[in-house]
Amino acid sequence: MSLGKIEHIGIAVKSLETSNLLFKKLIGAEHYKTEEVKSENVITSFFKAGENKIELLEATSPESAIAKFIEKKGEGIHHIAFDVKDIHAEMKRLEAEGFSLLNKEPKRGADNKLVCFLHPKGTNGVLIELCQEIG
Ligand code: ZN
Repeated sequence: MSLGKIEHIGIAVKSLETSNLLFKKLIGAEHYKTEEVKSENVITSFFKAGENKIELLEATSPESAIAKFIEKKGEGIHHIAFDVKDIHAEMKRLEAEGFSLLNKEPKRGADNKLVCFLHPKGTNGVLIELCQEIG
């Protein structure tokens, strides 16, 4: 068992409207989807650059983790997501390795994924997301 490729990089932004235009200019292609994740109080948009995906995240509520992140650190890279084949097995493995999981059960994320986050205190300050494509 190990982590797979980097599935996407998540970037916290204040305004999707503004940043969609910026990333369209940067990448040279439009975002290909927008999705709200109500449980996380975020709205996301996805870009593809070659094989790589960028997820932009805007808070829909001041209670959102994205709003708090921007308040503390400003806009910028929020998380790195790794693709996993079996999220339950990886969560068990990483917990046994001493990492702390922010959710004990996988939850439904954007883009048809089951996700789990690792506490950034245990990963050199980088929030890590595990994600498994749902069937
Ligand atoms: Zn993500």
